[in-house]
Amino acid sequence: MKCPFCGSLDTQVIDSRVSETGDAIRRRRKCAACDKRFTTFETVEMRMPQVVKSNGTRLDFNVDKIRTGFNKALHKRFVPTEFVDQAIARIVANVHSFGEREISSRAIGEMVMVELHRLDKVAYIRFASVYRSFQDVEDFRSMLHEVERPVGMKASKAAKPGKGAKAGKSSAADLAVGALNPHIKNPPNV
Ligand SMILES: [Zn+2]
Repeated sequence: MKCPFCGSLDTQVIDSRVSETGDAIRRRRKCAACDKRFTTFETVEMRMPQVVKSNGTRLDFNVDKIRTGFNKALHKRFVPTEFVDQAIARIVANVHSFGEREISSRAIGEMVMVELHRLDKVAYIRFASVYRSFQDVEDFRSMLHEVERPVGMKASKAAKPGKGAKAGKSSAADLAVGALNPHIKNPPNV
């Protein structure tokens, strides 16, 4: 490291310690030529890319916006905050690991979709319906079909008419909500 006082390259590290928060290393250095001392810091570079929106404008990456998206989608759903935090941390790590100067808002939206699909299918549908701006009920129906498939549920069978035909419909709906949310261990009325 070049001496900031005389420009000599003949400097030595005389002390090295990790900062209190553990995210930086502080080194005391001494110049062999002019004998002056100076300090350098070593930190991890965590520069996030710029987010390019579909209209071409660029914004700073903002994790609060991602959190707001999750909160809206998960409103009144039974997903622990801890799981949401982990999902957001995975997205931030993903975006950072891209290592690019720019990332499209679309790519971030897709990451949010992947995480919501894992967390809560109802929240996933809510987010997707806004994000993919469903045009008609058919878009919504195909999305419902998509999330129902991996659950392996046959709604027609669950709601089949029988002794409890009146109660059948509502309990099937409750069952569907429970099946869509892996965090409800005992869905009501099942
Ligand atoms: Zn010097």
